[in-house]
Amino acid sequence: PELILSGIQPTNIPHIGNFLGVISKWVSLQRTTHDSVKLLYPIVDLHALTIPRDPEHLKKSKLETAIILLACGIDPARSFIFEQSKIPAHTEVAWFLNCITPMSWLSRMTQWKAKIKLNKNIQSIDDEVLSSSGLCLGLFSYPVLQAADILLYKATHVPIGEDQVQHLELTRDIAVTFNKMFHQNVFPLPLSIMSDRIMSLYDPSKKMSKSDPSNTRINLDDSPAIIAEKIKKSTSDSLKCITYDPITRPAIANLITIYAAMQEITVDQAIVEHSKSDIKTFKDALTQVIIEKLSPIQEEIQRLRFEQGYVQQVLKGGAEKASIIAEKNLDEIRKVIGLK
Ligand code: ATP
Ligand code: MG
Repeated sequence: PELILSGIQPTNIPHIGNFLGVISKWVSLQRTTHDSVKLLYPIVDLHALTIPRDPEHLKKSKLETAIILLACGIDPARSFIFEQSKIPAHTEVAWFLNCITPMSWLSRMTQWKAKIKLNKNIQSIDDEVLSSSGLCLGLFSYPVLQAADILLYKATHVPIGEDQVQHLELTRDIAVTFNKMFHQNVFPLPLSIMSDRIMSLYDPSKKMSKSDPSNTRINLDDSPAIIAEKIKKSTSDSLKCITYDPITRPAIANLITIYAAMQEITVDQAIVEHSKSDIKTFKDALTQVIIEKLSPIQEEIQRLRFEQGYVQQVLKGGAEKASIIAEKNLDEIRKVIGLK
């Protein structure tokens, strides 16, 4: 890899799905990559506007997201964390890409359908969809902004959860289209770095999400009592033993995945450990594992909440470093398309 980029929306407090899926990977990439590999982790505030938001809540979520990334171990000396909206090149490149992306590609994306709770089988946006759902242009086209986030920096690798695979494929398709259209290899085709998907605690068919209105997640700042209560109430099934079967026992499989990932052990090891446990014993052990893992992170969250000046400084420094790359690439893109 040469440049690794991955974003997080400041929609709410990040949860254990974000942590196990991407944040912990972002942290370990700081150790496992050569110093010459650039690591960029933008807080994508423009994406958070695709669903109506209270301005104060957005501001607060942005700061909290930065605090949590730092508390989880993102090192600002190695990784650039910054606010997407501080670098206008994101929106400028998004516009260029909007002009070469067929509407039909966006119609096929599943996320806007999921977010406005439409039937997944809808393939195109006809008049009925347009008027009944209140679908906004921003929610429909945000995968193009996401492509711009990635391509602006010529990212070579993108660590993502499974829910973002379709968007990364779209990004590659857009990059190919651009390169062909202008007969130049401007954009490398970004590869994904994939990770586990953590599902909702109450509905194992849905992924754990920051913006899900029902409280189906464990936030990284949840107190031990809240964690215990959420795990206790989490969906299980009528079998008494612990076995891993994502098809027939999706809820238990999800809990086992969390248990194993939190301790960086394999699912098999977790199963062996709990071969004699009933569900209550297993849930108690899971609760302990989550509380222990999150405890040092939460101490750091508490500390950083009193260091807001420092956190703002980190974001500013990150944006300054990212904008050097962005400006250089934007200049090249403008020339290629004839604006300069
Ligand atoms: P929102 O509901 O607001 O979209 P989110 O929880 O989906 O929030 P994002 O900020 O959209 O979080 O995504 C940040 C990163 O976390 C993405 O790479 C995404 O794939 C990953 N991610 C999100 N949810 C999960 C999950 N449940 N398990 C693993 N990875 C996840
Ligand atoms: Mg999301």
